[in-house]
Amino acid sequence: MTGGAGYIGSNTALQLLDAGYDVVVVDNLSRGHRESVDPARLREVDLLDTEGLVKVMNEAPCEAVIHFAAYIAVGESMKIPEVYFLNNVAGSLSLLTAMVRTGIRKLVFSSTAAVYGMPERVPIVETERYAPVSAYGESKVMVEKLLHWFDQIHGLRSICLRYFNAAGADPAGRTGECHEPETHLIPLLFKAIRTGIPVTLFGDDYPTADGTCIRDYVHVTDLARAHILAVEALAAGAPSAKYNAGTGHGFSVREVLKAVEDVAGRPVPYEIGPRREGDPPLLVADSGRLQTELGWNPQYSSLRAIVETAWRWECRNG
Ligand code: UDP
Repeated sequence: MTGGAGYIGSNTALQLLDAGYDVVVVDNLSRGHRESVDPARLREVDLLDTEGLVKVMNEAPCEAVIHFAAYIAVGESMKIPEVYFLNNVAGSLSLLTAMVRTGIRKLVFSSTAAVYGMPERVPIVETERYAPVSAYGESKVMVEKLLHWFDQIHGLRSICLRYFNAAGADPAGRTGECHEPETHLIPLLFKAIRTGIPVTLFGDDYPTADGTCIRDYVHVTDLARAHILAVEALAAGAPSAKYNAGTGHGFSVREVLKAVEDVAGRPVPYEIGPRREGDPPLLVADSGRLQTELGWNPQYSSLRAIVETAWRWECRNG
C-alpha cells in the first residue's frame, strides 16, 4: 500500500495484518508518521520515483495495491495547487505506470466526497456529477479519470472509495488521527479543551436546523474494512467501481461539539466565525451500493463510538 504511515492507511494496514494479509507500506513520510508503521514493512519511496516503485513491486510481488498516499488539506490545495496536482495526480500516474510495468492490475483508491463539490441531491449517490470546488477535489477527480483509461487500455481494475468524514481511532488504541497542521473538526475540539483556546465554528447561519454544517462521519475502522472488502472483490474478479463510504447519517458541527463535551466531561471553548470557503451546508452519503455490492456493514460509526475512540487516542497521544 502507499501512504500506510497516514491516518487511514495505518489503520487499514493493522486490520489487514489482523486478517492475516501480508502488507508492504510505501511512504515518503512527508506527512505520515514513521512510528505508525512496522519498520520491517516500510519502504521509504516517493510516489514520483517510478523506478523505485517498480523495484519494491518486483521485490515483494503483491496481489493488489491500496493507494492512500496523497495531500488532503482543502485549504492548502487552494494556495499551492501545483503541489497537489504533482503529488496526487502525477504521483498516482507514476504508481499506475509502475503497476502496469510489473503486471499488478488491481487497485483500491482513496477518493473523496470532495469530487461532488456542492451536490444538488442529498444523500449523494455515486452517479452525481463531478463538480469539485477545490484543487484537492479536482486532483481526485483527475485520478478517477486516469483509472478509467488504465482499465480500458491496460485492464487495470480499480475500486474508488469516496470517503466522507473519516474520524475516530483504532478501538484498541494502536493508531489514530494526527495531522500537522490539524484541520479536522474532532481533533480541533479536543485541542480546544486541552489548551483552553477557543475553536472557531465556521458559520452558524447555514440552512440547517442549528445553523451549522452537517457532515457524514464514518469511523476509520469501518473505512479500513471497506478497503479489505474492495481488495477481496477485485481478487474475486469484480469490475472497476466507485463507492461512497459514509453512514447515511449526518451530524451538525454543534452536535459533534456536544458529543465531545459528553465524552470528555468538559465544556469545549468555542467561538462562531465566518463560513469557510467551499463548505457545503449538507454532505451525507448514500452508501447503499457499498453495502449491497461489497457487503460493507459499518459497526463503529455511531457518533458516540467515533468520539470515544478518538478521545481515548487523544488522551494518550495529544
Ligand atoms: N469545522 C469547524 N471548525 C473547524 C474545523 C471544521 O467549524 O475548526 C467544520 C467545517 O466547516 C465542516 C465540519 O466542521 O462543516 C467538518 O470539517 P472537517 O474539516 O473536519 O472536514 P471536511 O468536511 O472539510 O472534510
